[in-house]
Amino acid sequence: MTPDVRDEARRADRPARAESRDEGGGGPRSAIAEADWDRALRLISAADEVALSCHVTPDGDALGSMLAVGFALRSLGKRVVASFGDRHFAVPRLLRFLPGQELLVPPEEFPAEPALMITFDSSTFERLGLLRANTAGAREVIVVDHHPSNEGFGTLSLIDSTAAATAVLAEQLIYRLGGRLDRDIATCLYAGLVTDTGSFRHSSTTPAVHQMAARLVATGLRTDEIARELWDRSPFSYLKVLAEALERVMLEDGLVWTYVTRVDRAAYGLPYAEVEGIIDIVRRTDEAEVAVVLKEDDQGAWQVSTRSKGAVDVGAVCVALGGGGHHNAAGYTSHDSVEETMAAFRRELGKA
Ligand code: 5GP
Ligand code: MN
Repeated sequence: MTPDVRDEARRADRPARAESRDEGGGGPRSAIAEADWDRALRLISAADEVALSCHVTPDGDALGSMLAVGFALRSLGKRVVASFGDRHFAVPRLLRFLPGQELLVPPEEFPAEPALMITFDSSTFERLGLLRANTAGAREVIVVDHHPSNEGFGTLSLIDSTAAATAVLAEQLIYRLGGRLDRDIATCLYAGLVTDTGSFRHSSTTPAVHQMAARLVATGLRTDEIARELWDRSPFSYLKVLAEALERVMLEDGLVWTYVTRVDRAAYGLPYAEVEGIIDIVRRTDEAEVAVVLKEDDQGAWQVSTRSKGAVDVGAVCVALGGGGHHNAAGYTSHDSVEETMAAFRRELGKA
């Protein structure tokens, strides 16, 4: 990558910030200060080893951003260790095509007290799961994220709520480190960008997002193969579980919702990670402004996925219920019954 291309990437970030819409509860967080980027670069250049983590049950943006930066750090001669704090550590099936998995270790093998740790796409300390203790034990923690609800739980925040994906910030960090885009890095970043923008459909899809996509695609990556890996490789049992969820879908006053139990999944041998896409089908309902899917995980907790078409800030609703996210896509965990969970959600939605 020539320096002028790098400059273009940095400049590309600026008009996007000026034009991007408010995705957050209290207005867009100010863009990252140059002084903070500089401090991040100093911390990284002083480190021999960098420990990377992302949020539990990672999505394309979390894992893609982390692995992309992992590649770049490794090419700079750093020892890199990357993980996420799931009790049953496994890369979700649909992200196994991402290059760089050799950087991953299970949380038990993650350094207990890293000198330098970087977290990706994790909006809260809690979302680090089993790696919370390691984060608390780290000397320096750089938080790279784009969630407006992120208060900054590290020693340095690289948080920009106007960024369409954490991958946007990861690309910036890679350029600033003097790294170059190769096809592996670009594949990881593209997975983040295409996931978080809903395949370039959400309002966060600015000209800068398309310019970033162009830089990534120019490395020779196969967008068709990535799309197939991400969305068109569900097992047949997914359709059976989806049918169960759609059978009990409810439409009430602008709210469409359903739930998927672990019993549904067990009946067809479907892992929890496979039900993530159900919200994308439920949210298509024209009569509804807000869509909710309650997904029971293997521990019996409800992972609540919420989506808005724009009028309602589901991010604020989910923050009030102990979770987080964006204006139009957010979530939280509930340990109550389906009925109690939905009653609490309707109550908060009424206030929004
Ligand atoms: P999804 O419904 O796709 O799992 O999540 C949508 C958005 O909500 C993502 O940006 C994700 O980070 C956020 N989110 C989902 N679940 C939780 C949660 O339990 N806690 C927090 N803080 N954010 C969540
Ligand atoms: Mn993200």
